[in-house]
Amino acid sequence: MTYRYDSENIFAKILRGEIPNDTVLETEHSLAFRDIQPQAPQHVLVIPKGAYVTFDHFAQEASDAEIVDYVRAVGEVCRMEGVADDGWRLISNAGEAAIQEVPHLHVHVLAGRPLGRMLSK
Ligand code: AMP
Repeated sequence: MTYRYDSENIFAKILRGEIPNDTVLETEHSLAFRDIQPQAPQHVLVIPKGAYVTFDHFAQEASDAEIVDYVRAVGEVCRMEGVADDGWRLISNAGEAAIQEVPHLHVHVLAGRPLGRMLSK
């Protein structure tokens, strides 16, 4: 799979500072901000600053430093949001079947209510 990154996607615009975001955490290689249409009381998106479309793209092409930073940023967000006690979910949609709306890698950190089964069907 060859990935083509669309630098006009909305998260690229957020990273360039062209549109605002509600930042939760910024690190050298990653940014976490609140989802504009939260699906749970806590709904944070964590993105790498690099131009990666999906988790697979990131895993193939990101540097070790970017990957370590990103994984640690997700963990840090979970700790900052205090999600561990009641449970939480990490989702990353990729491509058409998963209805990925924004073609820049992001994981959703969801918490704050019972989240139901992983998939509805
Ligand atoms: P996905 O379907 O996994 O690609 O999810 C994209 C997510 O980005 C959705 O949950 C949207 O609500 C969220 N989103 C879109 N635009 C923005 C924005 N400007 N700021 C924060 N979240 C956004």
